[in-house]
Order: sequence, then C-alpha cells, then structure tokens
Amino acid sequence: MLKELVDFSRELEKNGIYDRIEESQQKIDKPIMVIPVKDDLSDIDTENIYFVVKDTKKELVNGVIKYLIIFDDQKQPVEVKNIDAFNKIMFKELKTERMEWQKVILDFDNYTWKLSDDPKGNKSIGTKGNNGTNSYHILAFTGSFETRKIFSGKNEFIKKIENTYRDKKVIQLELMINDYSKVEKISCLLEKICRENSINLIWKNIENFKEIMLNNKDKYSIDNIKVLIKLPESYYSFYRVLHDRYIDIKSFKDEKEVLHYQKPVCCNICGNISNEMSIPSSFNNFSTKKKFVQHRSRMSLQNDEVCRNCAKLVCLFHYFVLEKTRLRYFPLFIKESDQGKSIGETISLMKQSKNIDKLGFKEIIKQVYQKTFRDVLDFYLIIYNAQARVISFDYITGFKFKQKGMDLFQIEDILGNHFFDMYSNTGKSYNGKLRNNYFTENVRTENIKLDHLIYEYRTNIFDYVFRANYKAFTKKNF
Ligand SMILES: [Zn+2]
Repeated sequence: MLKELVDFSRELEKNGIYDRIEESQQKIDKPIMVIPVKDDLSDIDTENIYFVVKDTKKELVNGVIKYLIIFDDQKQPVEVKNIDAFNKIMFKELKTERMEWQKVILDFDNYTWKLSDDPKGNKSIGTKGNNGTNSYHILAFTGSFETRKIFSGKNEFIKKIENTYRDKKVIQLELMINDYSKVEKISCLLEKICRENSINLIWKNIENFKEIMLNNKDKYSIDNIKVLIKLPESYYSFYRVLHDRYIDIKSFKDEKEVLHYQKPVCCNICGNISNEMSIPSSFNNFSTKKKFVQHRSRMSLQNDEVCRNCAKLVCLFHYFVLEKTRLRYFPLFIKESDQGKSIGETISLMKQSKNIDKLGFKEIIKQVYQKTFRDVLDFYLIIYNAQARVISFDYITGFKFKQKGMDLFQIEDILGNHFFDMYSNTGKSYNGKLRNNYFTENVRTENIKLDHLIYEYRTNIFDYVFRANYKAFTKKNF
C-alpha cells in the first residue's frame, strides 16, 4: 500500500499537480505587513514598514472621496472610514511591487502551510508550547486581532515577538543554511526586532491598521494580518528553502525515532540508498507519544520504514490530495494488477480539471471506466475523515461501476431517495444527507426517524457502493 502511494504521489509531483494546487493558493486575501530589512542586513527598517493589498481605489460619492481597499476572496472592497489612521500608514498595491517580490508575497500561504499530521508544527518558533508567533516559517507569520491572540494587545505582541526572535540559537536552528556567516547575520538581524524602539514602531502600524479594519468588522471578515520580513533580493530563495526544510524534517514521524544506520541501507520503496530510515508522519498508526503503542524493539529495517524522500511523498499526498482538495474517498489504483492505465487516467483527469478540488471518487471512477473499458476494477480505497483527521484504507477487488444497466452512483441516489424521501418533512430530497453522513459521528438531518435510518443502513449502502460488497445490500433490506 505504502509503495503504491509513494509511486502515485511521485507521478502527481512529476505531472505538476502539487504545483497547481500551490498556485491556486497564491493570493492576497489578507493585508500583509511588510517589515523591510536594510540592504547590508545590519538592521530592520522600521521607518519604512508598509502594508500590501491587492488594490486600492478612490471613489467620489456626493462630493466626498471614498477610499477602498481590495483583497482576493472578498466580495466587496473594504471602505476606509478612519482617514486619519489611513494617512498614518503606508499602503502599496501588489502591482507596484517588483515582480520577484510580488512572487514572494503571493506565495505567503505556500511558505507557511503545515503538514496534515503535524498538529503543532513549529508553531511556536522560539519556545515550547504556543508562546511564539504562530508560524511554520521564521520570516512569515499570521496573527489575529481576537482576544489573547498575537495582535490583540501590545503586551501579547511583545511577548510573542520576544519569544520568537530573542533566542539566537533557535533562529540558527530554524535557518540551518550551510553558509554560517549568512546565518549569523540574519539571526543578529532578527534579534533586533525585539528592541523596544522597533517593537513600538511595528506596534504603531498595527494599531492604525486595526482602526481601519475593525471599523468594518460587521461587513468584512478580515480580522487578522500576515507579517512578512523582507530580506534583500539575493535572499528571496530563502523563503522557499525554509519551508522545504520544514517539510523534510516533519515528513518523518519523529526525528528522534529516525534510525541512523552506520552503513547505508536500501529504501524498501524507491531503492535509494540512505543512512536514515523511519516511518512517514502520515499514513501510520504509530503514536510515539503513547508508550503502549511504541515499537520498542524495532531494530531492523521493516516494511514501514522508508527514506526521507518517500516519507515526504506520502505526506504531500496527504496534504495536497486529501486535505487541500477535500477529497473524502480516493481510489488508488495498483500498477501490478494491470491497472497502470487507470493510474494514468486518474492523473490526466487531475491535470485537465480546472478545479481539482471539485473532483471526487465518482468523477475519477467514471473517467477510468470510460477510458479503460474495464468492467471490473481493483484499487485501494482511501477514506479520509478531515474532521477527525483519520485515514483508513481498504483493498477493494471486483468493483463494478455498471450494475443492472445503471452506474453505481445512480443506484446510490435511488437508495437514498427510496429510504429517506418518505421521512422528508420539507419535500426536499434527503439523498445528499445520506452521502454526507456516511462517517459523521452525529447525524442531524432535522428528522429523528431519518437519522435512525441513516445509522441503520449507511454502512450497508457504503459497502455496496464504495467497497464492492454486493451482498451488503439486498432486496431484504427494502
Ligand atoms: Zn525511498
């Protein structure tokens, strides 16, 4: 299973699917406060702090000038009501920035995303617990204006900033760049953010900005900002490198559990030779925190131990395919069972599709059936419960998309309608409620009798439609 997953994930990476999902994250949906750094890295330039927005607009309404700020994902522009505060801070439109820097700005979310199986991440850069800035990146972090959050009050802000940047050792660890003199320079620089004068100037900008945004709270949901420390241009590649490094480290379940072999050994999956082998942080049922499930006697190479690169591919699949696109069920076809063509079809569907996040099990199965002309399919069914962050998988064999002249999902609709329409108070079809409630803990459809029916039959229907268990649901159930 792990091997098929790694191979498939490698294909997705090769075909640019992950890049496309990342591209779809490029946007300015929140204001970004940029803290520039002097060219020689000697200091941060607090006098020139500015806010980047997607666009700004001036409108003349009844002889009065209205200032509007525009963001991606916001249906309406934000109207500036506090002109005094607006005049005290510097705003820049994205298009006025240099192209190379625009790219860094737009990639903010791609520099800060955390792996699905990393509940804490390096959330608290600088300290244990959650005392530092909420980030997975030393040069980029987000904060909110809510109570006790980083930008809710000056004291909270100071504490977070100090915890994040005062410890040079931690910064050096985060940076981990080979060139030691660069590391030394940047960590000295970041330490300077904690000086009282710097913090005061940064905080003044935040306060003015808060005035503008919170005036609009009833209409807009922008209650947090992103902060980006702007290094000189020759360092722009750092932003990506830092995040890649985080992914590399966190791809293994636990860095302390990594087996360091004295002689290089062969990875079971890709065959590459490495001194380090461990369990991927995704798709495993080991919990290193729980002593009773720990592998205490694990000494030799086992099937579930892989090289760092394979572990990373498993994690990328989890994050991009299951979490980011919100796919709940995924059919992972297997090359060995003569279904290599099905893998190709899945990838080409993902490549062609404008919205990968609109794809589902149904669309993939349909495409594979139509393009490969195979009546019977075998695959691993990956089931992802995003709420409970649980992944399970089954090996499905003998899956038949067409049954009695209909496709399986038409049958699912008929079953849904037959059982659930009779309890409809509103005349609405309940079919969607069945489909959305296969794995929910508490079914709530506004009708108790219907809830009970869903509890009673959902496993049978799911097994019939998704698990190819065609005896799970028979005439008797009607
Ligand atoms: Zn490998």
